[in-house]
Amino acid sequence: MITTRFAPSPSGLLHLGGARTALFNWLFARHHGGRFLLRIEDTDKARSDAAVTRAILDDLRWLDLGWDGDVLFQSQRLERHREVAGRLLAQGAAYRCYCTPQELEEMRARARAQGKPPRYDGRCRERRDAPADAPSVLRFRAPQEGMCEFRDLVRGRVAISDAQLDDLVLLRADGTPTYMLSVVADDHDMGITHIIRGEDHLTNAAKQLRLYQALGWDAPEFAHIPLIHGGDGEKLSKRHGALGIGAWREEGYLPQALCNYLARLGWSHGDAEVFSREQAVAWFSLEQVGKSAARFDAAKLAHLNGLYLRSERDEALCAGVLALLEAAGDGRVSEAGKARLPALMPALKLRAATLLEIARNAEFLLRERPLKPDEKAQALLAKPRARELLGRLRGELGGLREWDAAALEGVVRDFARNEGEKLGALAQPLRASLTGGSVSPGIFDVLCALGREESLARISDALQQSE
Ligand code: GLU
Repeated sequence: MITTRFAPSPSGLLHLGGARTALFNWLFARHHGGRFLLRIEDTDKARSDAAVTRAILDDLRWLDLGWDGDVLFQSQRLERHREVAGRLLAQGAAYRCYCTPQELEEMRARARAQGKPPRYDGRCRERRDAPADAPSVLRFRAPQEGMCEFRDLVRGRVAISDAQLDDLVLLRADGTPTYMLSVVADDHDMGITHIIRGEDHLTNAAKQLRLYQALGWDAPEFAHIPLIHGGDGEKLSKRHGALGIGAWREEGYLPQALCNYLARLGWSHGDAEVFSREQAVAWFSLEQVGKSAARFDAAKLAHLNGLYLRSERDEALCAGVLALLEAAGDGRVSEAGKARLPALMPALKLRAATLLEIARNAEFLLRERPLKPDEKAQALLAKPRARELLGRLRGELGGLREWDAAALEGVVRDFARNEGEKLGALAQPLRASLTGGSVSPGIFDVLCALGREESLARISDALQQSE
């Protein structure tokens, strides 16, 4: 059965690149009706953090990239890793290396001086004179002369000369296994058939293949996907506005939009830009993953998120906005304010790219009166003519029987005509009084969402404040 895995190290939070790797593995497994497994590579104790592990799992769940079975923690398999190392030692495919850190440093310095890549020179390969109790690491007896060739499912034929590969360390002096050993033992034991990961692991694939060969195990297929670059062609980093997945969530991005965007970073299906998860599962194939680096474009992601917002159900958006404000510890959201939100959501979602933007635009709706008008609103409300009009309009509105958009619009337009004013001359101070600002969704939608009592009270507040 096709089996993929995502294998993050909990030394850092999940970023866009990692999330895309997880997504591609997930899509590939689902497309083939296979399994998608999760392994936390936490053997490096000093760099592994339980809180980071939890955050990674939360982010994957939020992205709806569920895994099959239990999470496998690499640190719980140390015995198995040592056993595999022992096998390699027993069959002569590994050897003990007694070189001291100082010797290794001298070796590297010499290589550097000769303009060669710093590599272990193999001096312990045939060593017989080592004292029994001297500290040692276990090294792989890597082939020295050949070419490690394989067919990568994205890159095509890859050939890496063995001379480039090192006699890598399998067990450290304290007996702990290294990444290279653990990853091979785990992928083998987990029955991984396809390893999809970032291109930065390409040389590791050659090293790992040599280990598979030495162990007599079938190697999985490899697919190394191009890295993600920022608009300037450099590897993606914070500088490009690339945040951890948690930060995108806090910014009010929708997981469906983020996954849709990530799917298109390196993979394509014709000219499809906006597609559902089901479509992505049906369409996904490694043949359609490009070879060149994908460019991250924050504006495109925001645009896509806006599209998803507009097609999302209003109740879901209301819940999302309120959850976001709650998570941000915003205590100024009133119960009455929450109740007012659904009525304006159809208008709010038309003018925002993220939930956070909706939340900001809806602030006036969610807060209790009296509002504190911003500078522009204050200036509008300070004009005597505006106040005069607003005062009389309040009277007209108060007499209205039906409080709905059509009736409200009728009253306001008639009033403007009778006063010989343009609608804007009225709408501006009205908006300032109702929202405390100078931009908002359509004023009649705002009046409807606030309701009669609240609207009239806000107009009165504004008139009193500006006296
Ligand atoms: N733990 C490795 C990383 O975070 C991934 C290893 C792999 O995919 O083989 O980069």
